[in-house]
Amino acid sequence: MSERIGTTCVQGGWRPGDGEPRQVPIYQNTTWKYDTSEHMGRLFDLEESGYFYTRLANPTNDAVAAKIAELEGGAAAMLTSSGQAANFFAVFNIAGAGDHVVASSAIYGGTYNLLAHTMKRMGLECTFVDPHCTDEELKTAFRPNTKCVFGETIANPALAVLDIERFAAAAHGHGVPLIVDNTFPTPVLCRPIEWGADIVTHSTTKYMDGHGASVGGVIVDAGRFDWNAHADKFPGLTTPDESYHGVVYAERFGLEGAYITKATAQLMRDLGSIQSPQNAFLINLGLESLHLRMARHAANGRAVAEHLASHPKVAWVRHPSLEGDSEAALAAKYLPEGSCGVVSFGVAGGRAAAETFMKNLKLAQIATHVADARTCVLHPANATHRQMNDAELEAAGISADLVRLSCGIEDAADLIADIDQALAAVE
Ligand code: PLP
Repeated sequence: MSERIGTTCVQGGWRPGDGEPRQVPIYQNTTWKYDTSEHMGRLFDLEESGYFYTRLANPTNDAVAAKIAELEGGAAAMLTSSGQAANFFAVFNIAGAGDHVVASSAIYGGTYNLLAHTMKRMGLECTFVDPHCTDEELKTAFRPNTKCVFGETIANPALAVLDIERFAAAAHGHGVPLIVDNTFPTPVLCRPIEWGADIVTHSTTKYMDGHGASVGGVIVDAGRFDWNAHADKFPGLTTPDESYHGVVYAERFGLEGAYITKATAQLMRDLGSIQSPQNAFLINLGLESLHLRMARHAANGRAVAEHLASHPKVAWVRHPSLEGDSEAALAAKYLPEGSCGVVSFGVAGGRAAAETFMKNLKLAQIATHVADARTCVLHPANATHRQMNDAELEAAGISADLVRLSCGIEDAADLIADIDQALAAVE
């Protein structure tokens, strides 16, 4: 990418020609009309590129996927209906029944459930490793049938930073790709492909959309992983796909196109978790200001974390860019321009104190969400994890006093004033 990231945020993916619309048009249609069925046949055989049915491809979605591929420095991308669908497709495209995955234990709870339970029922085993495990521990997690390694750049909600280079080296040493969910930093603050990741996923529902307006996901392929060099591990890419006229994806589409073409032609065809073109349009509006918003989110997150760290009614604070944070060294390497707007902290006085704090907030809104323009806040012990008692919460690494604050793009001074007046109400 020769242009800078901010320019790609605004103009990437859709470069109109003479007299064409400046904004990416919403192709709401399901189908396209052709003069001959021979022409349609060539499209079905993937011999010619073109559109015929929105479940398989749509120009609005393609333009937005192309922008995100440019932002991540990838070769190709595919939009999905949600971040969950993106992570499922990213893994399932190369691993299935009888296979095994190595994943960081510090990942979003929904992704943990997907790998530990739902994909297990589909015959896929997963070994979870601490993102800060030793090289030896990481090595012992691999099995002969391991097909990929999975982690999050900044884990939700643990805020652990993945040592992408180390995990990529371990994955490549075992002949498999590294998949990184880059939802929290976005490509504005970290581009995992530059550190060795092979496939990047996002819940675009978060910062990319940025306005709480549309659920979505994306998978980006770096186009570098040599499927043919490990052909026995990835027969889905290196042997004929009988469900698609015997096409061998790695042969026909090369390193750059094989993975995303298979995900589209096979998984999207059969599982159908497509992004709606309307939502893709909304994501694109969000992307146009992503570089401006991420700078503000990261600055607000850091300012709020620093303020909380010096507050007598706060027991502890976690934010990757906070000096002295356990993740600070990794954040300095992978996230030098800031990490994200999410801050976790404990209100001194435990569960009751956290509850009092929450109900006194005026600007920060209580929501089961993170990472959009409006500051929002969640008390996991009372929401996502409310079925657990204090001892069970402690075992899950979520203390009863933990408050997860997602700093929006308001003025930091107002967010801090809101926090201060809510803390003042705590006895
Ligand atoms: N990945 C991460 C890091 C997330 O935080 C989330 C949702 O919070 C997801 C994936 C799932 O995304 P979605 O809610 O868009 O399905």
